[in-house]
This record gives sequence, C-alpha cells and structure tokens, in this order.
Amino acid sequence: MANLIDGKAVAAKIREEVSAEVAQLREQGIIPKLAVILVGDDPASVVYAKSKQTASNKVGIEFELFTMPATTQEEEVISLIERLNGDQAVHGIMIELPLPKHLSKERVMSAVDPKKDVDGVHPINRGYILSGEEGLFPATPQSCIEIMLRSGIEISGKHAVIVGRGETVGKPLVFLILKHNATVTVCHSRTPDLGYFTRQADIVIAAVGKAKMIKGDMIKPGAVVVDAGINEIEGGICGDVDFESAKEAAGAITPVPGGVGSLTTVLIFKNVLKGIRLQQAR
Ligand code: NDP
Repeated sequence: MANLIDGKAVAAKIREEVSAEVAQLREQGIIPKLAVILVGDDPASVVYAKSKQTASNKVGIEFELFTMPATTQEEEVISLIERLNGDQAVHGIMIELPLPKHLSKERVMSAVDPKKDVDGVHPINRGYILSGEEGLFPATPQSCIEIMLRSGIEISGKHAVIVGRGETVGKPLVFLILKHNATVTVCHSRTPDLGYFTRQADIVIAAVGKAKMIKGDMIKPGAVVVDAGINEIEGGICGDVDFESAKEAAGAITPVPGGVGSLTTVLIFKNVLKGIRLQQAR
C-alpha cells in the first residue's frame, strides 16, 4: 500500500515561504503585484481568477483583475498588456485561458514581458527551459517536481516515464525533470502498449486528461506515481490515474484532489517573486 503524498501540506509549507518573502519585500517598499486578464466570462476561468485573488490576499500579494468583454479586439488586449508591462508596480501578468476564438493565443501570450510572464508561456521562457537559463516556467510541471522533492523523493538517476506531451504539462516537464537528472521516457497517444513503458518506470507522471486511465497493473511495484490530471466526473474530480488500483502497487502516490493541483497557485506566486528578482536584474 502506497504512502500518500500530501499536496496540501507541501503547498502550505511553500505558502509560508512565499508569505515570509513577501513580508521582506514589503519592508523594502516593494509590494508584489499580480495582474490577471480575463477576456469573456468562461465560468471556470472566472472561478480560477477569483480563487487566485483570495489566495494572493492571504500571502500579501496585491492582485488586480482586468475583465474585458468577450468581443474585445486583439489590439485592445495587447494594448492593456503593454500598459501592464510598463507599469513598475505590476510584477506578474497572467491571461486566463481559454481566450475567445477570435483572439490569437500565441500573439496575446507573446505580448507579455517575459520577466512578468508568471505562467511561463512566452516563447522566450519556453526556450529557457531548453537552454537551462533562468526564466519563468509553468506552474503545473514545476508542481510535479516540487511535490516529489519536498516529500523526500529522489529524482536523480531515476527512470521517469511521463504520459502526455501537452504544451501545458508534459512537454515542459520533460526538460524540467531532465535538469534533476532523471532518465526520461515520454509517452503519448501514439505509444503502443503504454503499460510496457509505465511498468519500467521508477516514477510515473500522468498528464493526459483521461479519467483513471493508468491502472495499478501498469505500475511497477514500489514506483512513485504523480498524477497531474484533473478530470471532471460525476460527483467531483479525479486524476488520470486509477487511484484505487494504483495505490496497491505504488510506493508513493499523489491523490486527486489534494495532490499536484494543490501546489499550482502557490507556485504561480513563487514565479511572481522570481519575476521581481529577474526584473531587478535588468
Ligand atoms: P493536453 O490535452 O495538451 O495533452 C494531453 C496529452 O495526453 C497529449 O500529449 C496526448 O497525446 C496524450 N494522450 C491522450 N490520450 C492518450 C492515451 N490514450 N495514451 C497516452 N497518451 C495520451 O493536456 P494538458 O497537458 O493541457 O493537460 C494534461 C492533464 O493535466 C489534464 O488532465 C489537465 O486537466 C491537467 N492539468 C492540471 C493542472 C493542475 O493544476 N494540476 C493544470 C493544467 C492541466 P498526443 O500528443 O499524441 O495527442
């Protein structure tokens, strides 16, 4: 029976560190501020934006939500981003996704100052993941790594099998976990016999978006299982891993909810703080 990795406890620890750093910055007269842009009224995006607002207030980060109607033209969104780029009181900028269809996600994301890009989606930050330079990197793949490191799980020298090569989680994770000296295998929808690969993993990381797809018989006994998946099912949410069967095989496992997803917001705040350091070094 696997050890349960407690994402909420890990998140609480990181939150304490963030609050302490924010307090120090405030003493120096720097008030960290996150600006979130919400175009349209996608119900999930509204909920995410509001929950970030509550969480920001708790750690002492100032928060401003900019809402724009769904019919807003691209130039207007980019003009707001440019204004926030130039505003020294704003240290992090996030665009809630999905954007309305008439807006180009690539053009909008690329307009954000890379040093304020707390979502780690700007092409320059994507490049820094490959080159190893200091940049701002996406929160969810970072969460997958932090949750292991802070639970005393050794990554170096381990064989990590990542299931999913999506732009948000799987792909950036490949390069982030390589920096921690894992040996990495990446699986995706065209991988034949997925279980053949996952059964060889010391660490399985699921980033697929398919409810309970990875079963216990696909896990090597004693392996670490990290589930980044969030799937809505009747009566709540579940991960990409079939928790009930996987926990019997795994040595350690993250639950959903209460696992990787618990760290996401606080790691965005860590990016705000890292952004401040990068902006100071300009
Ligand atoms: P994407 O849809 O971008 O990518 C999904 C990946 O899974 C693709 O690479 C796809 O392969 C692969 N895949 C699909 N079906 C299979 C299959 N049967 N076998 C193997 N691989 C398969 O997803 P995201 O990267 O955006 O998100 C991944 C998961 O992470 C989702 O559950 C999402 O909800 C969750 N998530 C969680 C967050 C959090 O805060 N915890 C934040 C963001 C996302 P192919 O490339 O061949 O199509």
